[in-house]
Amino acid sequence: MTRVVLVGPPGAGKGTQAVALSERLGVPHISTGELFRAHVSEQTPLGQEAKRYLNSGDLVPDSVTNEMVRERLAEEDTEAGFLLDGFPRNTKQADVLGQLLAEQDSGLDAVIELQVPEDVLVERLLARGRDDDTEEVIRRRQQVYRSETAPLLEYYADILLAVNGVGDIDEISSRVLDALKTRS
Ligand code: AMP
Repeated sequence: MTRVVLVGPPGAGKGTQAVALSERLGVPHISTGELFRAHVSEQTPLGQEAKRYLNSGDLVPDSVTNEMVRERLAEEDTEAGFLLDGFPRNTKQADVLGQLLAEQDSGLDAVIELQVPEDVLVERLLARGRDDDTEEVIRRRQQVYRSETAPLLEYYADILLAVNGVGDIDEISSRVLDALKTRS
């Protein structure tokens, strides 16, 4: 059973690592950013509501986000575990996740923090070129990370595993897998 959350600032490589690790660990990769982008491109009511937040770099309101995650975690493929990427993004979402898992008599196994210096982050994001990767929105997302998301490192101190997020993709995945082994 692998229930893992990936945390790190925008550009830390959470999405890239989540894809690689989900294959290695055999659990689904759940990215709230990707779920929102799918809603936006399909122009669902949720997408219409979420769009302006994605475009500004602010967080989508917790009520919308938590409900979307609750539905996703109710799907059968999460029974073997999951890799959450981009959720929780603040301590209130973390409380909700804790409650959702407690209802299934489970909890998180580990929280992986991908550590990457700020100059490398900006460089990676500008190279990625997603619609919301303009310099202004990147800056806003970094600010939001520091004020809203970084407190999770304290919140999850007991199960936090810090991993160096600089290097090539396989090298970083191996570091994460090694770190997870120390907890199993
Ligand atoms: P990401 O793909 O993780 O970089 O997320 C892109 C954008 O989606 C963020 O800037 C937020 O606007 C929104 N988003 C993703 N995950 C969350 C979340 N857990 N809570 C609120 N907003 C989120």
